[in-house]
Amino acid sequence: MSDTILARCEAKGLRMTEQRRVIAGVLEESADHPDVEELYARASARDAGISLATVYRTVKLFEEAGILDKLEFGDGRARYEDAERDHHDHLIDINSGEVIEFMDPEIEQLQEKIAEKLGYRLKGHKLELYGVPIKTHGA
Ligand SMILES: [Zn+2]
Repeated sequence: MSDTILARCEAKGLRMTEQRRVIAGVLEESADHPDVEELYARASARDAGISLATVYRTVKLFEEAGILDKLEFGDGRARYEDAERDHHDHLIDINSGEVIEFMDPEIEQLQEKIAEKLGYRLKGHKLELYGVPIKTHGA
């Protein structure tokens, strides 16, 4: 298990105000892919003094420090997740906006093979699948 978000912020020399600590704590406990509005709702439940602008600035700061990954799923809402979360890809339900995480060894291997065929050693990738639920009989 890697260091907490707060520990990584401190290691990067970010000045951690009380409000930034609250936001770091909210991010630490978020296992999903919240956007800024959602993070604001969670953070202001803990500290009513936190403003939406502070959440915006803080996630931007954390993103620039490489602590958070910014995810864009084509709906105009930037979402965030811990950059140190184990590698996975995303499937986005385009009806509900729900984000499902998955990791498929065959896809991972295939991507490495493709890169190799093109003369590259793969250093990373992003894969996003967009779908609608398959209606099953009786549903
Ligand atoms: Zn994810």
